[in-house]
Amino acid sequence: MGRQPRWRRVDFLPQVTYFKPAGVPLAHLKEVRLSIEEAEAIRLKDIEGLEQKDCAQKMSVSRPTFARILLSARQKMADALLNGKALRIEGGNYEMAVRRFRCGNGHEWEVPFEVMIKEPPELCPTCSTPDIMALWPCRLGWGMGGRGRRCRGR
Ligand SMILES: [Zn+2]
Repeated sequence: MGRQPRWRRVDFLPQVTYFKPAGVPLAHLKEVRLSIEEAEAIRLKDIEGLEQKDCAQKMSVSRPTFARILLSARQKMADALLNGKALRIEGGNYEMAVRRFRCGNGHEWEVPFEVMIKEPPELCPTCSTPDIMALWPCRLGWGMGGRGRRCRGR
């Protein structure tokens, strides 16, 4: 308690978040949990092929921190694949690059990462109602826009 979480900036939320080895009964299945920022590290480095320093900058962390997140992500994925464990992607200390909010009166607005981690909105900037919620997903073009759901990754 009391320790400030250190937020990592994430541009992408994976659509499929649970992987299970074929033919293993659920009762015998062990699970590995990959955080959203670990998935993002893998995406930036291994899918986008960016340099570590660029990945670190994108996630708003130092290079050593990025290297640590990436290593942990790779170890977990290897553990799941080679030891036949299920892999669940969820949670972590991440915040979206841009988060979209909607108030109870239907106003929508966007809050960038830098603002989110300093002072997340408490009131609608248009009508000042405290009845606001983050939309999920946050402008990722999945055609799911408007489905309101809390999406802070903790
Ligand atoms: Zn409003």
